[in-house]
Amino acid sequence: METLKQTILSQGKCFPGGILKVDGFINHQMDPKLMMEMAEEFSTRFATVKANKILTVEASGIAPAIMLGYLLNLPVVFAKKKRPLTMGDMLQAEVFSFTKKQSYNICISKEFLGKNDKIIFIDDFLAYGNAAKGIIGLCEQVGAEIVGMGFLIEKSFQDGGSYLRDLGYNVHSLAIIDSLENCEIKIR
Ligand code: 5GP
Repeated sequence: METLKQTILSQGKCFPGGILKVDGFINHQMDPKLMMEMAEEFSTRFATVKANKILTVEASGIAPAIMLGYLLNLPVVFAKKKRPLTMGDMLQAEVFSFTKKQSYNICISKEFLGKNDKIIFIDDFLAYGNAAKGIIGLCEQVGAEIVGMGFLIEKSFQDGGSYLRDLGYNVHSLAIIDSLENCEIKIR
């Protein structure tokens, strides 16, 4: 998606270890117009997919997911990283965070994910696919089907994309970064 690519090139910052910082428009300050354009692009790409729910992980997946949910008229559920005391029956999966270098649990109340659900999973980044693996795990626990996965930014050199596509998932990324070597952003 051209606008996103240009924004990454003009505002994105490289960090050692293959991390791209996009705090000026996605991860801290957010650009609602660009966010809506990205959701519109997802809605075109997932136009023929039969989904009844959008799933994401807090926090940075929520903004694009809610905008897509608005456009497709679908409810949006976000997996929580801390179990609220009030959450009863729930599903849990462990996720390794590549940026924080530690594992954490994600949880969703059983009230909001079940065997009849057909899910589009949305997240900000696709790196090694660990968050996606956690979501796959939650869906497998109840027999929900994942009919699409959408990422704002995929880093192709970190294998998550090939892993998910090899498993047969319908993966769409709006910008694909092929390299961050020498702190130079190379976008496909
Ligand atoms: P994965 O689970 O695919 O290994 O990594 C994706 C998750 O880690 C995303 O939800 C995102 O929060 C975080 N992440 C991975 N790589 C980057 C990156 O280069 N920049 C930022 N800002 N977050 C990243």
